[in-house]
Parts: sequence; C-alpha cells; structure tokens
Amino acid sequence: MAVFSPALLAACGSDGSTTTGATTTTTLAETTTTASTATTEASDESIPETTTGVAGDDLRWGRTNLGFVSAYVLARGNKAAIVDTGTEGSADAIGRTLVSLGLTYNDVDHLVLTHRHGDHAGSTGAVMEQAVNATVYAGEADLSGIDYDTITGLTGGEDIFGFEALATPGHTDGHMAVIDHAAGLLVAGDAIFIDGDEVVEGPERFFTDVAQSRDTIRELAQLSFNTLLVGHGEPIENGADAALVALANSLA
Ligand SMILES: [Zn+2]
Repeated sequence: MAVFSPALLAACGSDGSTTTGATTTTTLAETTTTASTATTEASDESIPETTTGVAGDDLRWGRTNLGFVSAYVLARGNKAAIVDTGTEGSADAIGRTLVSLGLTYNDVDHLVLTHRHGDHAGSTGAVMEQAVNATVYAGEADLSGIDYDTITGLTGGEDIFGFEALATPGHTDGHMAVIDHAAGLLVAGDAIFIDGDEVVEGPERFFTDVAQSRDTIRELAQLSFNTLLVGHGEPIENGADAALVALANSLA
C-alpha cells in the first residue's frame, strides 16, 4: 500500500463537500504552523497562484492553485472554458488566471464541473455572476449535489469547446473528465491524483466506488495524451499517458 503525502490526504473525501472544506482548513493551518518562522502571507506568496502552459498547436491552459485544490482555464484564441471553480471564494483568483492568459470572464463560454464536491464546485455561483456568457455543465448523476440551478447534464461523449466529455465515475457517480485529443491534454478532476510527481489512485476513502474508479483509470489509460491536469496535485506536461498506463497495470 502506497504512503500518501499530507497534501494528498487533504484532498476531497468521499463524504462530500462541507466536511471536506473543514478538514482541509485544519490541515492547511497545521501546514502553516509546521513551516516554522514563515508567516501565512509569506508562505502563500512562495507558491505561484497561476501557472500556465501550452498544449498542441493552439490550446493554452492556466492553473489556479488554490492551495490544496486547483481550478483550470483552457483557452483558444480569445475564448475560454473553465474547469472547476474551487472552494467558496475562489472566483477572483480564477479571474486572475484568465487575465494571465490575456482574457477576462467575458470570454468564457463554458464552465465544466468535474464533480459535485465543494472544493471543485464551491465558487460556481460567484464565477457565473461574472462569466455571464457561459454555460455550466456537470455529470448528470452529480447534478443534485451541486448548489446551482441551471446546469446542463453530461453523460459522456459530448463535445465542449473541442474537448470530449468523458464519464469517469468512481470518485463520485457523475464524475466527468474532459480531453482534447488533438492537443493531447486531459483534465481528470479527481479521477486520478498526483502525489509529488507520481500518478496515483488515491486513498480508498476518497471514492464512492473503488472498483468503478479502477475501471475508470483503466479506461483513461487507453487514451493518448501528453499533459495531465488534476484536481489535487501538480500538472504533468510530458508523457502523462505512460505514467497512467503504469498505474493502471499496477491495479489489482
Ligand atoms: Zn472530490
């Protein structure tokens, strides 16, 4: 059995949103204390809030690092899609990621929520107050768990902003990932975790259905992609599919 770092253990629990937020706050506070003399402000500043990258010919991505969870902006030309909205109070940080890609909330046509947990869908209302042109999507089976009224349900196979929506159940019943096959970029939400630079399954308690999650990992491992962006963990920008194949092969 793998040993997981505290950062990964702070990620979403299988029991849903509000408790997850509380647990995480505690963990972050502990981390800050452990960081000896550093003040809260200083340790926050040592981690860049936004990192960006390019995939394929025309796809730019931006990561909003919210501490223990990330939201993502995907941009083509002067248009954007957002994947996940982080915890409550994250809308301004996501707005700054848009700016770092040369865009604003007015350029956002799509918002995809990978799943219903509060650290991924927690700022949906606040984001949508600013992203007035956007359509919100989430997996059909997770809709009832998201506190937002007008969401388009996904079941897999839909095309959103040049991305294919993938049904990736296990962490939650309605978990969705999105992939741009041409650009070779997969945004996997909590279907996969990254601990350090390693692609991992994550602790069993993170999953509604562990067997289903393993099937999802095996299915994702059959896809071809170079860049992997996940809810919890650092981006992998090269050969991410090979790392996932290795994980899939290691599963019982
Ligand atoms: Zn989650």
